[in-house]
Amino acid sequence: MFAYRTVSVKPRLPAAIARLQELAHNFWYAWHKQGRQLFKRINEELWEEVGHNPVKFLLHVREDDLQRAAEDEDYLRYYQQVLEDYDAYHRAQLWFDRRYPGYREQVVAYFSAEFGLHESHPIYSGGLGLLAGDHLKSASDLGLPLVGVGLLYKHGYFNQIINREGRQEASYPYHNFFERPMQQLLTPDGREALVHVDLPGRRVFARLWRCWVGRVSLILLDCDISLNSPEDRRITAQLYGGDVEMRICQEIMLGIGGVRALRVLGIEPAAWHINEGHAAFLTLERLRELVCAGLKLAEARELVRCNTLFTTHTPVPAGHDLFTAELIDKYFSPFYEAMGIEREDLLELGWDESRRMFNMTLLAMRLATFCNGVSRLHGQVSRQMFSYLYPGIPVEEIPIGHITNGIHTLTWLAQELKDLYTIYLGEDWENHISDPGIWRNIEDIPDTLLWAVHQSLKEKMLHFARNNIKQQRQRNQEAAQAIKEVDGYLRPDVLTVGFARRFATYKRANLLFHNLERLSRLVNHPQYPVQFVFAGKAHPADVAGQDLIKLIYDISRQEPFRGKIVLLENYDILMARHLVQGVDVWLNTPRRPLEASGTSGQKAAANGVINLSVLDGWWPEGYTGDNGFVVGEIKDYDSEELQDRDDCFSLYAVLEEQILPLYYQHDGGIPKKWVKLMKRSLQSISPFFNTDRMVMEYARKYYVPCMDRWRYFNAPGSRAVQELCAYKEQITQNWFGVQVKVEEVFVCHRELLDDSQPQGYSPGEQCLVERGMHPGEELKILAGVTLGNIRPEQVLVEVVYGVVTAGGLRELQTVPMQMQEPRDGRYLYEGRLLLPQGTYGFTVRVRPHCRDFVHRFELPLVAWAERF
Ligand SMILES: *Cc1c(COP(=O)(O)O)cnc(C)c1O
Repeated sequence: MFAYRTVSVKPRLPAAIARLQELAHNFWYAWHKQGRQLFKRINEELWEEVGHNPVKFLLHVREDDLQRAAEDEDYLRYYQQVLEDYDAYHRAQLWFDRRYPGYREQVVAYFSAEFGLHESHPIYSGGLGLLAGDHLKSASDLGLPLVGVGLLYKHGYFNQIINREGRQEASYPYHNFFERPMQQLLTPDGREALVHVDLPGRRVFARLWRCWVGRVSLILLDCDISLNSPEDRRITAQLYGGDVEMRICQEIMLGIGGVRALRVLGIEPAAWHINEGHAAFLTLERLRELVCAGLKLAEARELVRCNTLFTTHTPVPAGHDLFTAELIDKYFSPFYEAMGIEREDLLELGWDESRRMFNMTLLAMRLATFCNGVSRLHGQVSRQMFSYLYPGIPVEEIPIGHITNGIHTLTWLAQELKDLYTIYLGEDWENHISDPGIWRNIEDIPDTLLWAVHQSLKEKMLHFARNNIKQQRQRNQEAAQAIKEVDGYLRPDVLTVGFARRFATYKRANLLFHNLERLSRLVNHPQYPVQFVFAGKAHPADVAGQDLIKLIYDISRQEPFRGKIVLLENYDILMARHLVQGVDVWLNTPRRPLEASGTSGQKAAANGVINLSVLDGWWPEGYTGDNGFVVGEIKDYDSEELQDRDDCFSLYAVLEEQILPLYYQHDGGIPKKWVKLMKRSLQSISPFFNTDRMVMEYARKYYVPCMDRWRYFNAPGSRAVQELCAYKEQITQNWFGVQVKVEEVFVCHRELLDDSQPQGYSPGEQCLVERGMHPGEELKILAGVTLGNIRPEQVLVEVVYGVVTAGGLRELQTVPMQMQEPRDGRYLYEGRLLLPQGTYGFTVRVRPHCRDFVHRFELPLVAWAERF
């Protein structure tokens, strides 16, 4: 095609409302409805037409409309008020400044393949992206100095159409980036800021864009520029599109290009957060920088590790990105050659021996000091999944933690409820979202008022849903009657259950449909009917997921279900807001334990919607016994069929026996008991399951320790990195010589302790453990340890004890042992244990010990006592 340049002819903004331009370019509007209202009030029809994108709005609005607004007293007052809020937001001194005053200049770089901020910026596919978007918003609210790094996808994920046959069709709309809420970044002398990466036989460039998310920026890389070949321009065409080569190119651009983008912009992060494995190549670029600056590979590795955090989101091994060694060679041989390191050294960093592939999750884990899952259960599952990397180490001590996901409450909360909370929770509640005390005041909201607001949100949602179906039918050229009858679909007085999420098969959107007869009785019940709203996209390559869509579509068109079960198309942030604000019950049926966290139920909870969920992801932490409902039970199944059958029966039973009777039990015109349940759910879920709490936890547990470590290792003249490397190497090479044997175990009876002989354990007075012991008595353990070439101060010898279970010892505790005397190249250690009543198992072990370790098992080495 021939070359061309673009020029935009924009309407003139009257001086009185000139700052609309600035407001349009900050996603602050995504969580401040007044910010959006400012545009909507100028021309509501256009606002809908441009997909709630204020930048596009300002390009398309007529000068007349702007002029009229600029002369309207009411509008101007509103405009002033919003700007005051906006400016106050930017001026405020926030949590991070107060809590960590010395850290303001330290930046956290947050890398993610997707970000979901608002429907006007579709560069997300699902929960991972929404979480990243909400993370940025809370970072801004809290004053955390964070910068996001991601890719700018030309066509986003995809738009979903459901055709006449009920099949999903994907379309890839063209997006003009100059009409998006972002700015292209320029160098100081006004040229395009560019970064490049070298791919086989060519150099690929990306230009840089910046989105403002409140006070935080998000840097996006865009390959769609004329410097690149047409094929390379497609690297940032689609999120999760293309084949494995496309995937590796994207991940190279994100990880390596992303680090370079920060460098070009002069940003020096003090902590690096890898949000899921896609971005893990950033570690290689940082390694390259350090090795090229003269560090040894092992030292560079320690330095990269010291301030890197990796968050894993995938509880199934098959979910991790894998590349063959050939592919890594193809893309990285110039890279390791430039670094002057061996191919094997690079491969080893991500090598997955069980699958003989390069694994992005393993790369991230090996090059991060901190690693976490996204719910308590997912932390456990991850420790189990990666336990093979920690041979001999108890699963519960594997250094993978968890921080449970949350939501950015103000983004997901309906304005009508926000206003209600401001009255009853206090003017300033928005600044105390993670304070349970604030939420207790939910009690003060009159039941009738809460219910009335909920019902109005429900009507709004039902209207939105009907419109969506009508649009489908109009586009699909259906008969006028089929379009018209949609007006009678979905009744506001019927209990409404929502189910909207990606149609990945493990989420089991079909669970409800295992017994259509029973389902028909449920939806057609004369007194206690129920209706269902479904929505979700399946990945274009996921045939099984698309079959689920077809299944639900077909059922929704069958007589007993028509108008009572509906399927909406093109699930996105806008639809999510409507659904989580307007249904009565939010349904979540993943096949346990495959949902790492899930967040949509938290959005629903903040709006007074009741959760009905499998005890998976966040729900085991959220469910208190009386704030929602549970599908199925906590049980490990060998067979998926059995699990599905049990869960399906449970789902019907809970609906029939618990939910429906409660919902329809009216008292003075409103379902009093249901409203009570709504209040309990709000009070117990909202203070914890939000991103304010989550980001504070990230800061405290990981970001600030990363920053401290970075400073510590980089202190002028410090040899800490070199010493740590030397230590690790020496210990790893000599660990084979470590042995430990329990020599003797004694119980010291109370009489002996009471006796004025505190240290008195003369042989005649000692008793065998087998005789048991009583509370208050001490166990004394003597162990002989050989260390070979390792010195005693390099290890820790400790008693380990815990509760005896079928799977071994659990809830482990440790007590350090003291060295008594060296004896023929062996060391004798003594430990004492005071145990409360119960049955315990105990033993002795040796592990490496170094002052600069963050975790016990920073080196995955341990020597346990032989049988004794
Ligand atoms: C919140 C959200 C998700 C994540 O939902 P889960 O139930 O956690 O899978 C996915 N897509 C959109 C549009 C969302 O708003």
